[in-house]
This record gives sequence, C-alpha cells and structure tokens, in this order.
Amino acid sequence: MIKSLLPFALLLSALTTNAQQQQSPTQAPPITTAIRAGKLIDVAHSRLVTNQIILIRGDGTIAQVGPDLTVAANVKTIDLSHSTVFPGLIDCHTHLADGSQQGNIDPIYQLKHTAAEMALESVPNARVFLESGFTTVRDVGVYRALTDIALRDAIAKGYIVGPRMFVAGAYVTISGGAGAMTGFAPDITLPWDLRYGQADSPWEVRQKIRLLAAAGADHIKILSSGAVLTHGSNPQSQEFTPEELSAAVDEARHFGLRVASHAHSPEGIKNAIRAGVASVEHATLIDDEGIALAKQHGTYLDMDIYDEECIEEEGKNGSMTADFLAHDHDLGQKQRQNFTKALHAGVKLSFGTDAGVCPYDRSIDQFAFMVKYGMTPMQAIQAATTSAADLLGKSEILGSIDPGKYADIVAAPDNPLDDIHAIEHITFVMKEGKIYKRPN
Ligand SMILES: [Zn+2]
Repeated sequence: MIKSLLPFALLLSALTTNAQQQQSPTQAPPITTAIRAGKLIDVAHSRLVTNQIILIRGDGTIAQVGPDLTVAANVKTIDLSHSTVFPGLIDCHTHLADGSQQGNIDPIYQLKHTAAEMALESVPNARVFLESGFTTVRDVGVYRALTDIALRDAIAKGYIVGPRMFVAGAYVTISGGAGAMTGFAPDITLPWDLRYGQADSPWEVRQKIRLLAAAGADHIKILSSGAVLTHGSNPQSQEFTPEELSAAVDEARHFGLRVASHAHSPEGIKNAIRAGVASVEHATLIDDEGIALAKQHGTYLDMDIYDEECIEEEGKNGSMTADFLAHDHDLGQKQRQNFTKALHAGVKLSFGTDAGVCPYDRSIDQFAFMVKYGMTPMQAIQAATTSAADLLGKSEILGSIDPGKYADIVAAPDNPLDDIHAIEHITFVMKEGKIYKRPN
C-alpha cells in the first residue's frame, strides 16, 4: 500500500515545489501602509534616527525603513512625525491567563473557578497588555494547565485582542513545589489541570515535557527554588535535583523548546544555569558565583524588579496574605541590588515583570526602575526588544523595526531616551501591521 502510493506522493511534492518556485518572484505582498516617524529608536544600532519612513506590507511585515523613501499614492500614511517611534515591547515574564486581576495572586482563587471562567476572565488582561505597548509576551505558566494555549490561539485567530503570546502550557514543578497548587488539605484530590506539571524524577520531568510539547507549548517553565506567592513554600530552598533540571533541558531540546527556570535561592539559580536553561526568572538572591556562571553560559536573567511595589502596596491594604509577605521580606531590595551587580558584570538581562502580580497596565512602569537601578534608557528598551527577541529565539521576526520583521511598532509623544517615564504614555500601538491604539 505505502509502496504503491509513493510515486504519487513524489509527483505531488514535485508539483508543490514547482508551484512555490513559480510564485516566489512575485510573492512579496504589496506595500499598504507607511509610517512617518519624527524620531525612531533604532535599538539594533543603539541610536536615535530622525525623519524616517517605514513601509509596511499587506501581510504585516516591514518592507523598508529609511529617510528618503517614496510613498505611492495608494498607500495609507500614518503621521507620527511629532512622536518617538520604537519597536513593540516584549515582556518575557507574564501570566496573562490566570484569570481576573482581582484576587488572583492567591492560587486558591483557582479552586473557586472553572477553567473556562479562567480563560474568559483573562480576555481583558490581554487587551490591556497590548494597549500599554507590549505586542509580544513570553507567558511563563498558568495554574489551570493549557488555558494559556487557548488564549494564545484565540489572539492569533483574531477572536480576541492581545499581544502575540509564547506560552508554557503549565508549570513543571516538584510535588508540593513552587508551581504546585498548595494550601489545601492533603486528602483533597485536585483536578488534572491543577497538577498537570508535577514531576518527581528525571523521567517524570521528561514525560511532562513530552505532554506539554504535544499540547503545543512554546517553551518550558520549570521551578528550581521555592516561591514567594505559593503557600508552604520557601524562596530560599532548592527544588529539583541537578539531574532533573538537566533532564528538563535535554528533553525540551528534543522538541526545539527552551527552558525558563524560576529561581530565587542562590543554589536554585546555579543549578538551573549549570543545567543549561535559557533564562533564570527572578534571580533574586543570585551570588557572585551565579553571576559569573550566567555570564559564562550566556544565560539571561529575567529580573522582575518592579513588582515589589505592588506586593508592598497589597501588604499595606491587607490584600496580600501574611505568609506571602513573610516570604517576601527583604527579597525586593536584594533583587534590585543584584540586578545592578549583574548589569555591571555584563550578564544578559531581559525585560520580565511577572505581570499579574502588579495590575497588567503597570508592567510598563518597570522601565523606570531598570533605569533607576543602573541601565541607560536605551539598555532598558533593548532588554524588552532585541534582547527579549533573542531570548525567545525570534530575532529574525521580532525585536526591531527592520525589513522582514513583523510591523510591531509603538510610539509615544515624548522621547523615552530623554526621560524613560515617557514610555509610560504610549499612544500608538501597531501589531503585525494592524493598529490597536492611536492618538486621540
Ligand atoms: Zn511568574
């Protein structure tokens, strides 16, 4: 049977190849939109250029960028000649699919709602995030497994408005660990989607990663230390053994997936780096050896140095539980000091906020903190553009305003390179050539 079909299959594939070749000379879709940019932040070359024209194709990609381009009469022109234009921002640490903002910091919230409610409650999160200037997110875990995949796909299909999402599918965590649903009686049996990623040996880790890859995850999120916002957890602890972490990185690699590891404790951070993860999330208590290792391995640190503001605010207004506040004691300030240390040591730093801890429209406020703790405004913007795209492995299509990349373009009235707070007032958002926000 297979043998007799083979000649037909070969003929079919030859025809397909032929058709593709014939199409290729005329394949580039026509230019439909032009943006006149008064100032443009060229993140790839760390410079500001003025009076640029960006030509965008009908398929949402950038055709050309330059000062003296001809704009055909039938092309729609967007005048941003009085604005500063820069690439759509990328947040490398979000949780957009865990339901509504109110009350979702305590994971117990997940036990009071169905997975469908979680997914639908997340719809406004995605819109708010896009409208604040983030055209792409690397979402790093949900409690109800796979709701992030549903949200990603609903956005990609145009059912709802939101940033382009790359998602983890679930947390890969030890039983009772930082990514597990904890805080309830031991004789309560959780539904499958609240214990999807629990694994307790290298082989169980591999099995969970196989399941996540088959379910359509874009990367793997593992937790190699305890957490602040998990009941019964200790952020200073280690979770998973080096063998389990190495198994995670190796198994993910089989599917072309990268691994992000949550880690606060020095040993949890170093175990993850040695295992070969692409990024360490939080990296709160990283020590000198950890900084040297991150530099040596080219590991990104994705440090959410802003959200301490929200944890403290919620502590004051009584909406943060006492155990979470006890876990958090001192960590915020230490993380900010270590961010400065890592920056000065030349470690790769990406922009990640743990969005969901703070309200979704406040992730943008982290830029000013990254500048306050040592970055130049250009470095802070690069952390959320070129570096973030590199961490995602998507530099060919994301991270700068250059030909061939997606037309993910934002603009603000004032120049964030002069005062980083200007980035908090983005008035124009385009994702893949489509406008989602424009100046009033
Ligand atoms: Zn997180």
